[in-house]
Amino acid sequence: MSSKALQKFLDENLNDLKSKGLYNEIDVLEGANGPTIKIKGKELVNLSSNNYLGLATNKRMEEACIEATKKYGVGAGAVRTINGTLDIHIELEKKIAEFKHTEAAIAFQSGFNCNAGAIQAVMNKKDAILSDALNHASIIDGSRLSRAKIIRFNHSDMDDLRAKAKEARESGLYEKIMVISDGVFSMDGDIVKLPELVKIAEEFDLITYIDDAHGSGVMGKGAGTVKHFGLSDKVDFQIGTLSKAIGVVGGYVAGSKDLIDWLKVRARPFLFSTSLTPGSAAACIEAFNIMSESDELVNKLWENGRYLKEQLKNLGFNIGHSETPITPCIIGDEKLTQQFSKRLIKEGVYAKSIVFPTVPLGTGRVRNMPSAAHTKEMLDRAIAVYAKVGKELGIIK
Ligand SMILES: *Cc1c(COP(=O)(O)O)cnc(C)c1O
Repeated sequence: MSSKALQKFLDENLNDLKSKGLYNEIDVLEGANGPTIKIKGKELVNLSSNNYLGLATNKRMEEACIEATKKYGVGAGAVRTINGTLDIHIELEKKIAEFKHTEAAIAFQSGFNCNAGAIQAVMNKKDAILSDALNHASIIDGSRLSRAKIIRFNHSDMDDLRAKAKEARESGLYEKIMVISDGVFSMDGDIVKLPELVKIAEEFDLITYIDDAHGSGVMGKGAGTVKHFGLSDKVDFQIGTLSKAIGVVGGYVAGSKDLIDWLKVRARPFLFSTSLTPGSAAACIEAFNIMSESDELVNKLWENGRYLKEQLKNLGFNIGHSETPITPCIIGDEKLTQQFSKRLIKEGVYAKSIVFPTVPLGTGRVRNMPSAAHTKEMLDRAIAVYAKVGKELGIIK
């Protein structure tokens, strides 16, 4: 390496993280990311993926992906605005709009890209963004790119949001004011207080932006958190991913036709990054077909979530205040959390520790993501391991 300053920076910071137990070792999967996974030749019950409906390994979607790949090739060949828009991209966007009950939709290469593009396409340095304190990193980065003033409000605290919205509006400093929140907060599994948020937005003329990455395919019979509350016509930006419940990769904004027309000429990742692969677009279309045909997968997901929560709570674990299938086990201390997760993995349960900076210091947790693809036998296997390792480390009695 040529730069001594870089090497010094890396040495210092890597050693610091490792000594504090905050360095994340990346595990490698030998096969699909299904309800069970294989790591270093060993099969584990998988409670760490966002593949809520089990669609990542859905046979119909695999077939659709292969067929589209044969027809269109492996890559889209250009950005959407040059000639990388294939008819299946348009079909996908129509499906999304139908599913979300909006006039139109625009697809991006990822949920992260979506936030990196959509916020700054509308907001600028004369504006302000009211942002929930626990919003996802891509919202924070997307907001920064807009150069609007970022005003954080306490997590899900609607009194604080109202006070800050009032102050921002009455200051006369800003042209547009936007409020942004996750639909489902993935670290605790709690849901945005959308009816109150929408009321405050109406009172102070706020643009509403709900990132429902963890709510789409899960809440509102699959259509998401906004649909769950029956507020589809009150939210300006409905963001979702194609990479979590949908099981593939990509992100989208669903909204009015005018908004989507504008994003198609101004959202930078749409203009300057190659479009979704044909196979991904086709697989996503098939996922929406599957979800439209039946509620079976969504129901199974919730049933598994309820069962896992009930069993872990009965064992004495602190599972927080989740309102969705996401089931955290809050341990607190970062090192103990990592030790707990390592022991679970050793005993055959892949449930990953999540520590600072992803969650606040002192709230380290092992987060469990049950899915529609888990069988009761798999969940029981996981619960038995939780009981054993929890007692061994003195986390439960
Ligand atoms: C996961 C997530 C994203 C990023 O989505 P990808 O499709 O994985 O890039 C964006 N926003 C929220 C709230 C998320 O949870």
